[in-house]
Amino acid sequence: MKGTVRLGDNSVIEKCGRGTVVILAKTSIGHVSSVYLERVLWVPSLGSCSLLSWRAIDSLGKGFSLASSGKDMYIFRENKTEVIWGKLDGYDYVVQQEKESARKMTYQQWHEALGHPSPVYLKSNNYSDATNLPKVPKDWQCETCITSKSTKRKPTSITDIRSDRLFELIHSQLS
Ligand SMILES: [Zn+2]
Repeated sequence: MKGTVRLGDNSVIEKCGRGTVVILAKTSIGHVSSVYLERVLWVPSLGSCSLLSWRAIDSLGKGFSLASSGKDMYIFRENKTEVIWGKLDGYDYVVQQEKESARKMTYQQWHEALGHPSPVYLKSNNYSDATNLPKVPKDWQCETCITSKSTKRKPTSITDIRSDRLFELIHSQLS
């Protein structure tokens, strides 16, 4: 779906698509909520810069309100709960998002994602791009690792055959 978008400075740029985007919006009191933005336009020439239109939100007619105090702006629901928090950065308000969702991964998730390494190796200083690996929880154990390392002892074989009738002795694999 191609078309054009007119920006505040009256320049016109091309748009290439439209869809729904989910952002993890962080509020000023530290809550994180998933915000679904519909009718989001994909405008490649904007690069990584995303614009949020208050007029578009207002036009939904769902009772959202906009408030600002100094370097912060907020969008509230009709029931006055904060949905979006914007902080002034230069000339623009930047929507605060929970970006570092990787930090929220548990130790177990990291352990699995990295192929079940031993806690000896799963340390931040062993990975140049992972500076915030969680610490090993106390008494931590990985069920998969324990199971895969377990060894079975084979029973000693019986040399003298003690059964003389059919089905008197049945062999079965229990593990
Ligand atoms: Zn494991």
